[in-house]
Amino acid sequence: MLKDKFGRHIDYMRVSVTDRCNLRCIYCSQKDAFSWIPHGEILSYEELFEILDQAVKLGIRRIRLTGGEPLVRKGLISFIRQISKAWGLKDLSLTTNGTLLAEVAAELKESGLTRVNISLDTLRPERFKEITGFDYWHRVWAGIEAALATKLAPVKINVVVLRGINDDEILDLARLTLHYPLEVRFIEFMPVGKGAAWEKKYFYSTKEVIERLRPLGPLVPVVTQGGGPAHTFCISGALGKIGFISAMTHHFCATCNRIRLTADGRLRPCLFSDYEINIKSLLRRPHRTEEIRAYIKQAVDAKPRDRLQGRPQRLMRSIGG
Ligand code: SAM
Repeated sequence: MLKDKFGRHIDYMRVSVTDRCNLRCIYCSQKDAFSWIPHGEILSYEELFEILDQAVKLGIRRIRLTGGEPLVRKGLISFIRQISKAWGLKDLSLTTNGTLLAEVAAELKESGLTRVNISLDTLRPERFKEITGFDYWHRVWAGIEAALATKLAPVKINVVVLRGINDDEILDLARLTLHYPLEVRFIEFMPVGKGAAWEKKYFYSTKEVIERLRPLGPLVPVVTQGGGPAHTFCISGALGKIGFISAMTHHFCATCNRIRLTADGRLRPCLFSDYEINIKSLLRRPHRTEEIRAYIKQAVDAKPRDRLQGRPQRLMRSIGG
């Protein structure tokens, strides 16, 4: 069992398998510059497996694969099959933009993936293009339908609420839960990544979202499992749920249960801190098992009690959102 200095039980690792993405979301790309982690620096699946194997031996029980866009990386499904068979995890999930999901949802399910979170900030195809740079809304919607059909459930929809950009769709997005067994999660926009488009003027708080949802009637609290950061509710007669992730106004550090592994092999104790541990540097040494474990424990020990102020430098797509 992994416990940090403050008694938090750490059993969840968020793993970025690539920083590459086939979208250019305004909040996840630098306005003027463009750079990828060089291919040779991205952890191979063998290296990822080696690190995860030790992490699971130490007490990690839930793994989320993310990126970048994880589905753009070749070989992902075989890797999922390998890790789902290896350890009997409590939860093996994927965060995806959904654009490539429809074609592979059934295979993902069959390979042992438990569930997916799909990002979708708008129900309007033309607005989707403005936010992401690509005319792929219908592909994402097909991905959502495929995830529901193949029971990669619960299917969660991540909505980053941006003032003046998609806040007028809060009600429509919440109403999806009336007709589909989706969990629509409204996420507060976080200042992450040097050069990415975070500005206070875009920020829209959970409190304001809840205010906007008033016409739907009372929000009934729902108890969820897994210790995630969302506060979850449902509206009367709904098939799905509504969640709020208030990383800015009600941060959830006290119940944080996770560490991150970046695509270039850095353990990251906290999203908001640029402190990282270069676990990749160990991977070519002989007799490295104990050292890998020591580094994982060091990352857990380095978790700050509370959120640090300021803006982490790396973009979300290179940390693993
Ligand atoms: N490509 C995948 C996707 O689109 O879901 C996974 C990576 S993406 C970085 C993961 C999630 O982070 C997405 O739901 C995205 O909307 C969210 N995200 C990115 N930047 C964010 C920010 N500054 N504040 C809040 N959420 C952010």
